[in-house]
Amino acid sequence: MRIAIDVDGVITEAPEFFAVMTRAMKAAGHEIHIVTDFDEHFREQREKELAAYGIAYHTLAITRDKLGYCRVNGIGMAIDDDVCYFEDGPVPVVVNLFRMNQ
Ligand SMILES: [Mg+2]
Repeated sequence: MRIAIDVDGVITEAPEFFAVMTRAMKAAGHEIHIVTDFDEHFREQREKELAAYGIAYHTLAITRDKLGYCRVNGIGMAIDDDVCYFEDGPVPVVVNLFRMNQ
């Protein structure tokens, strides 16, 4: 499965958990897309941040149109802390549970 994972409010909330999860999912053959609404100018900074967290991924997509990205790339599930990006689409979204439990 192709899976989209947000950074701010998701990976940043539990980087150790997502490091383990993304490595395990990648090893099991899943395709990890990091999809973040960020400034393209800071791509290298974001890549360093993900490397420091130990996140395993195939693609880093920087876009405001997360749903469009998911549609074009056949994403089967998205993990994001903000459902507003996905309101008009059929992509299953898992809202970050860490924040919901606070
Ligand atoms: Mg976010």
